[in-house]
Amino acid sequence: MKSQDWHWQPKTPLDNNPLFEWPPQLRRIVAWYASVWLKLSEVLLMLAMAIISWLYLMPELAQFQLLGVGVVALMLVRNLSIAIIVAGGLHMFFNVLKKQGSELRYDTTELTNQKRFDFNSQLLDNMFWTLVSGVTLWTAYEVLIIWAMANQYAPNLVWSGNEVWFCFLFFAIFMWESLHFYLVHRFLHWPPLYKLVHSLHHRNISPISWSGISMHPVEHVLYFSSILIHFVVPTHPIHVLFHMLAMTIGAMIGHTGFDGFFIKNKNRMALGHFHHQLHHRYFECNYGTIELPCDVWFDSFHDGTQEATERMRQKQREKIISNKT
Ligand SMILES: [Zn+2]
Ligand SMILES: [Zn+2]
Repeated sequence: MKSQDWHWQPKTPLDNNPLFEWPPQLRRIVAWYASVWLKLSEVLLMLAMAIISWLYLMPELAQFQLLGVGVVALMLVRNLSIAIIVAGGLHMFFNVLKKQGSELRYDTTELTNQKRFDFNSQLLDNMFWTLVSGVTLWTAYEVLIIWAMANQYAPNLVWSGNEVWFCFLFFAIFMWESLHFYLVHRFLHWPPLYKLVHSLHHRNISPISWSGISMHPVEHVLYFSSILIHFVVPTHPIHVLFHMLAMTIGAMIGHTGFDGFFIKNKNRMALGHFHHQLHHRYFECNYGTIELPCDVWFDSFHDGTQEATERMRQKQREKIISNKT
């Protein structure tokens, strides 16, 4: 049953990655991966940006050995530009110029009271935390790993001779990121940490693209720490760039609030992550992503239906009663 809480919502119940279903359903698995890797998608965009960045928009690997100011500055300016182009571009298209009206928009409620935000503005608040804290810590982690690779402190992988493994790692990065995000995110909902840190991200009940990495600096440190896996698993700098883009522009695209680009009566490119939009609305569900069904495994999955909303509200009522007694 369709939930009444949304202006528009995708087909429910929502699916998780069928790779983890038993018995295996080969056709669904192929369709799932084809829809991500063989169509115009955010993943292909990230892959293209990672390759272009590696080839043209960053210093040579050898220059990371000594780590001069110029090297760090170049990385910082590159990441700042990516954030402004992606989050700014989406915001301009959907929220300022309103090029798509409310087609494929999850929530059309206009936020009139902006007092909960810094500078009394969701846009300025989100831009500030994204550009000042987000881009700085994104660049710091990225530079740390590539510096470690250049100095052989982190293991390196080359393309020739490892082609299959090299490609497989792009799939594996998404799964690792999903698991890490689930664990960190549950920790962030521990009440003391939620109050001090994660509530900043949750100011955005109806998120916009700039909300994606609008987080408290402590949350940035925890959230981006999934990149430290590159100290253990041999990878290439392209994997590091891709991994960081998945966590940054992936989040910006996912928070857009629109399910996709609606061109000629069709959703031509998936954008918003409705699974995560549900988390922003109902808080105590969908801590992970659909890439790895952690929410199903740990009983926190909201599949987007009205029944799931009722079930969740019932759970919350029981919790309140048991806390009182
Ligand atoms: Zn949360
Ligand atoms: Zn979010």
